[in-house]
Amino acid sequence: MIDVVLKKGKEKAVLHKHPWVFSGAIDNVKGKPANGDIIRLLDSKKDFLAYGFYNDQSRVAVRLLEWDENTPVDDNWFRDKIRTSVAGRAHILADGTTDTCRLIFSESDYLPGLIVDKYADHLAVQVLTSGMQNVMPVIIDELKALLNPASIFDKSDATSRQHEGLETTNVLLAGNQPPELVYVKENGISYGINIAEGQKSGFYCDQRYNRELLASYAKGKKVLDCFCYTGGFTLNAIKHGAASVTSVDSSALALETLEKNIELNNYGGGMQHNGFKSDVNVQLRKFRDEGEKFDIIVLDPPKYAPSRSALDRASRAYKDLNRLGMQLLNSGGLLATFSCSGAMDMETFKQVLAWAALDAGKQVQFIYQFHQPEDHPVRASFPEGEYLKGLLCRVW
Ligand code: SAH
Repeated sequence: MIDVVLKKGKEKAVLHKHPWVFSGAIDNVKGKPANGDIIRLLDSKKDFLAYGFYNDQSRVAVRLLEWDENTPVDDNWFRDKIRTSVAGRAHILADGTTDTCRLIFSESDYLPGLIVDKYADHLAVQVLTSGMQNVMPVIIDELKALLNPASIFDKSDATSRQHEGLETTNVLLAGNQPPELVYVKENGISYGINIAEGQKSGFYCDQRYNRELLASYAKGKKVLDCFCYTGGFTLNAIKHGAASVTSVDSSALALETLEKNIELNNYGGGMQHNGFKSDVNVQLRKFRDEGEKFDIIVLDPPKYAPSRSALDRASRAYKDLNRLGMQLLNSGGLLATFSCSGAMDMETFKQVLAWAALDAGKQVQFIYQFHQPEDHPVRASFPEGEYLKGLLCRVW
């Protein structure tokens, strides 16, 4: 195994169990590891620090796996991590009302670059590092042994793979090609998931509890679900007796799937649902000009800040969006607003909402803080794993 030696004074984060080593922290490499090889990381005095995946094409040159020198990172090491992660999700699936969740969440589950989402009997995986790409035969074998899935489909995110010098993929890894729509349940609601064509790996299971919590306020209310995708918030609100739900998304496929999901659950009768294929920023201004008002508004936009350097610009976009949302609420109405930008922390998000409230001429009470669910854990040593946050606001 090849040794990678850190520059003097660069070992602190590693000793604190942070799993990333940036290329600038490396003093020298004893030999020529191939990208994806497992290497031994040493401090400047040549003492062992950890084992990790090496990749000289990535800014994160080493992704650390194991800090105990006497625990070899072999096939069994990977199998054990998979078994532990899957077992940790058992209670989410236990009562039968939910059969979709994230089984493995990359660094946060000690498996850098591996994401596995369960869609009923099907698995969608994302392989984002060359190290993980190398051990995929073992990963697939263990997932098959544990779960006997009908299919394992690779839905890897192109941009992340490019950073590691990997080709884009979208291929079947095991079993039969999943059907165009795979049917899953979440909070007792059925959804058709288009794994191959849908966004991300097909569904945003990180909003499971937030959808249900918000819906508990929806009875008899007029709800607006912005960035609705395939209707997670919409369907929960309908189930809980909303008087009407209006859903807005720019994706035609998302809205088409949402309509199918309403039918699938027999939610059509008596309830008024309107879908708008439109840019939310445009549609909200249209509603404002038409004098339209709502009792509950959901704002769940895509990631506005992909990095810390984009935070200022993103903050302005979040502020603008939330100002518009606040202006469309009836007095005392609820705004459920989210940010899935890791670079935006909760304190900054609250500040952005305070600015939005000032601009909108509104008073805002934060009545609940939303976060990512337990199948998206956050390691104490890896705060970067925390990305989803939201605020339930009462707006006057
Ligand atoms: N709330 C959804 C997930 C939202 S993901 C759920 O519970 O499942 C973000 C969504 O925003 C995607 O569906 C994407 O198509 C949509 N989107 C991105 N930019 C948009 C824009 N400017 N206007 C409308 N929709 C947009």
